[in-house]
Order: sequence, then structure tokens, then C-alpha cells
Amino acid sequence: MRNFLKVLTVSMMLVPAVFAQDKPAAKPSADVRFSADLLDKSIDPCNDFYAYACSKWMAQNPIPADRSSWGRFNELAERGEYIVRDILEKAAVDRPGRSASEQKIGDYYASCMDETAIEKAGTKPLQADFDSIAAIRSKAELAKEIVRLHREGTDVLFGFDSDSDFKNASQMIAEVDQGGLGMPDRDYYFKDDEKSVELRKKYVAHVAKMFTLLGDDEARAAAEAKVVMEIETGLAKGALDQTTRRDPQKVYHKLTSRELAALSPAFNWNLYFEDVGAPRFDSLNVVEPEFIKNMQEVVTAHSPDDWKTYLRWHTMHANAPGLPTAFVNENFDFYDKTLRGTKELRPRWKRCVSYTNAALGELVGQIYVQQTFGAEGKERTLAMVGALEKALGEDIKSSPWMGTETKTQALVKLQAITNRIGYTDKWRDYSALQIAHGDALGNSQRASQHDLQRRLDKIGKPLDKRDWPYPPMTVNATYDPSQNNVTFPAGILQPPFYDNRADDAMNFGAIGAVIGHELTHGFDDQGSQFDADGNLRDWWTANDKKQFEERTGCVKDQYANFVAVDDLKVNGKLTLGENTADNGGMRIAYMALLNTFAGKEPAPIDGLSAEQRFFLGWANVWCQSRTDAISRMMVTVDPHSPPKYRVNGTISNMPEFREAYHCAATAPMVNQNACRVW
Ligand SMILES: [Zn+2]
Repeated sequence: MRNFLKVLTVSMMLVPAVFAQDKPAAKPSADVRFSADLLDKSIDPCNDFYAYACSKWMAQNPIPADRSSWGRFNELAERGEYIVRDILEKAAVDRPGRSASEQKIGDYYASCMDETAIEKAGTKPLQADFDSIAAIRSKAELAKEIVRLHREGTDVLFGFDSDSDFKNASQMIAEVDQGGLGMPDRDYYFKDDEKSVELRKKYVAHVAKMFTLLGDDEARAAAEAKVVMEIETGLAKGALDQTTRRDPQKVYHKLTSRELAALSPAFNWNLYFEDVGAPRFDSLNVVEPEFIKNMQEVVTAHSPDDWKTYLRWHTMHANAPGLPTAFVNENFDFYDKTLRGTKELRPRWKRCVSYTNAALGELVGQIYVQQTFGAEGKERTLAMVGALEKALGEDIKSSPWMGTETKTQALVKLQAITNRIGYTDKWRDYSALQIAHGDALGNSQRASQHDLQRRLDKIGKPLDKRDWPYPPMTVNATYDPSQNNVTFPAGILQPPFYDNRADDAMNFGAIGAVIGHELTHGFDDQGSQFDADGNLRDWWTANDKKQFEERTGCVKDQYANFVAVDDLKVNGKLTLGENTADNGGMRIAYMALLNTFAGKEPAPIDGLSAEQRFFLGWANVWCQSRTDAISRMMVTVDPHSPPKYRVNGTISNMPEFREAYHCAATAPMVNQNACRVW
């Protein structure tokens, strides 16, 4: 919840693009493996390695109209969507002997696909919500309404959830966080450049348009949109930006419930905690006390009518994907077209696949892994993780800047990392969740409620490490500093990341470097602040910490000079952890690859040496095009650098690259002031 889960990419984590007209889609090509034919031989790899490895693929694979970016990650994810669609379509057929799981996933998907029923229902499925909001008579009743909306999965005013205790990582505690904004980050409310000012105008116009779809006349809708913007801007004032939220010390404030309530007494916290469905607790983490303090002012400054408007907006906004086409299209228009530069809505079936995955991911996932993930994949991945851990251990031991004391601690932390491969050992229990055929919106709200209850039930209990943050078909990988574990779901253990038929060099450059990336997250600017047990505790000597910060400072400055889009540069501080992980991951994957040679250099393939192929394996997974709009958004919200720099920034720090491609010392792909942490 505090964004401390270190992911390989956020592209998959963004809210799925909202509903679009269905149209026939061709099956994607089954083969997404690397091919030497894709190299652009007219480009010198020492001038621009990313262009050499990716420009041909990018020219042949333009961004589809229903996407804001397109890369090899997406190709792989799209293959998964077809597999899941098959699973869901089969499950949707009501037949004797259909299991309870099949009923749930099948009916969820079929209800989502039933556009006729959704059009016919109009906004009726939300009528009870609107009535309940309209019945608010005083601000004292606000808390009761917020409980109801939070339980339905609507993000209003603030966030409430469970999380592990940073300073006692084996325990789960309650947590209150900032929330309730309609735009992607607090910066969107305050930046004063021309584009940001324009975007705010468009946001207000969008909110107004949505109110007119509910039947309000234009003058009233415009006034309502103004109120929404005022409340959200007020809330955003107390919110932290993404860069500040990376610092674990800045998002950990353990307070008693009483202390929290004193920060904003205008809100009835007692009632909220009693009704929301959480077990009793005395203390909790208040991620950002300033946000709650500021909330007091916002709650006080606005009338009950203003609050009704704000809640009505967020109810409509959160449920827009499940409403009739007019809402879906308007929602798409702002969130996808304007904010992300997407031209067209995704086909309905793809949207329904993502919604079903989001609501019932571990039911779908159980069938998915039976069909796609064999024992061999698990064994070979475990062996690679072992090889990478060994290489990182050697790297730590031979580090020229780290003292013996810190090295010992670092090795203890490395030894303690646990690996989760493929899928969870303990699937989530959905038996209490009712999924009804023909009730798309109700299904979605009940699924949110069921999942919030599952998370709140954890409060006061020991951390359960078998609980995965996402379903196994996800194309991603993660390191969790508060659990000190890495997760590689079945979805990513496929070409172009991992290929049974590829040579070691390609696999180590791709999934090997990804494994290395995740492992070194335990030792980046953020992960290094947590110890072997996942507790926020400083285990560094002062001198080693200073050396470490000097080295990460080099990485920060290097990436801060890269241009993301137009005149907008990469945020070196926001992306520091990911860049450190990319650089460290590649270095230890390279060491692990050399270990597999055991002194004997493999023969070249397609005229490329194993060393050259290793770097191509890395570049290949990052081939990706983006719209300018999404590039701008990512600079603010994404802790990862743009794909081009994940490749060129990393390899230009490696003398091994220079050697493999025989580059001149002055070549653009040779960083004169090479940075190295790991
Ligand atoms: Zn990462």
C-alpha cells in the first residue's frame, strides 16, 4: 500500500484502460523469442545500443490504437490474456458438474461481457449508493458514508488497510494513508507549467461531463465539478509526492487511535473504525500525519452539500467501467486519451479479462498454472536464482568500498532472502463471495468488499508470507523489503524473459538480470534500510553508508541528465532504487553467466558471442514505444526510468559491454564517469 513493493515495471500495475467497443482481434503471434534478424545493423551498438537492438522491432510493432505503450512485456501479457479468455469462456458455460470456482469466474466474466444488460440497467445499480449519499444531513454522518464507500472499493478522503509493521515486520497492523484524489498524483494539482494547467481544466470538464450523464443540467454540473476540484486540491495539499514516499522514515508514524483522532477531530474516527470491519486495535501506522491534519481543514471548510457532491463524483468515477457506454467512453476520454495518449478503447473482452483477474485472480490463476506452468520451469528458475544469489554473495565479499562489518550483515541479509516461484502455496478463499449472473456492477462491489475484509482481518495477526500480492499470470517480478523475499510469478517465466530453447547467455541477460534486479533491491537506497528480517533498522557502519551514498549519488546524477520526453528529464531521485537494481542486476547476472562457462567460452550463435548475446537479452525485454502523454505521466509517477535508459544507462556503466562490442573509450555507450554500486 505504501508502494514499498519493488516491482520490475509499473506498466502492468496501472489501472486497466477502461471499456471499449468490441471488435475482432487476431490471435497474437505465439513466438516472442529473440531473433538476430531484428538487429538494426545500420546502427553502431556503441552509439546507441537500444536503437541497435530495438528500433527494428519498434518499427514493426507500432503502438496499437487501444494502448498508450507497447513493448515485449505487453506481447507476453497479451498471450496470457488469450489463455485466460479461454479459461473464462469455458467456465461461463453453465453445465452439470461446473465447480463453484468456475461458476464464480465464469459468471463474473459473462456478466461483464453482457453489454445489453448493462445498458438496460443504466445507473440503477448505483441508485442505492446515491440515495445513501443524498441522505447525509450533517458532517457527523460523513464517517458512516465513507465506511460504506471504502468497503465497496471507492477511494474517498483517505485510505485504510492493513500492512506489516516496519519496525516489527512479522506483525500486521492497521494503516491510514492519503487518498481520495481523482488525478494520478498530488503534483497534478499544483504544477504550474502550461500542460499541467491545461490538464486541470480538462479534468474539471470531465468531472462536469460525468455529472451531466447522471442527469444534472450543465450549470449545476459545472458548479459540482468546481467543488470536486476544490476538495481534491485541498486534500492534495497535505499529500506527499512519489519521490518523498520512497523514504521509509517519512511514511512510518506509529500513533495510537486517539492520537490519530486528535489530528482531525472533525471526522468521526471512532465510528469509522467500529463500522469498517477491522478487528480492534490500539495503535496504527499513520503514513502521513500532515495529510490527516490537513484533512481537518478540508472537512471543516466544506458544507455537507459539498461533501455529497464529492462522494457522488467518486462513486460514479470508481464504478465507471461497469456503467453504460456513455460513462465508459467519457471515462476513457479523460483517463486514457488525454492522460495517457491512448487512441481507442480496448476490446471489451480484454477489459473483462483484466477486471476478472483483478477481482478473482487466484481462482483464475489456479487454472492458469495447471495449463501453463510445469515442474521444469520451477526447477530451472530456482537453479538460476541460486546462481544469481551466489554471484551477489561473491560481489558483496569482493566489494572494494564496503567494510567487513557491513559485509557480514549484508551476507546475512542475502542468505535470508526467500524465493517464491510460479504461484502461491496457499490460494485465497473466495467461498464467502457471491457472484451473480447478470449483476456486473454488484459483482465488482462485492469482490472489493470481500477483498478489503480479507486484508483487514490480518490486523493484529502475524504476517503470512504465503500471501501473494498479485495472481500468477502477472508479467512482473517483485522484491518486498519488509518480507525480504522475491516473487517470480508464472506469467514472467516465459519468452522473451525465459526460454527453455534459448542459450544461457540470452536467458541470463533476460530473466537472469531480472532476478538480479530483484535481489539487489534488498540493497538499493530503500531496501538497504531494512534488515534480514524485514525490519526498518540501520545495519550499516557510518563510513560504509557514506560510501554507499556517494556511489548511489553517481547513479542519481547520471540518470537525472537523461531526457524522458520533450524537455522533461528523468527524476534521478525517484528512479534511483530501480536504476541501482538494473545496474546491480546486470552485473551479477553477468558474473553468474561467466560462472556457467567454467572457463570454456561457448561458440558464437548468429555471429554473436555469448557476451554480446547477454546484453541483447537485456535490451530485448525492454523494447517498447510510448505515447508522449504517458511518458510525461511516468516521469511523475513511475520509479522506473524509460526503457531506453534502463538499457543504455546500465550498459554504459559496464566495461564488460565495452569489451564485448569493442567500443572506443569515447563512444556514447561508454560512460566516462562510470557508476558502480554493486
Ligand atoms: Zn525493481
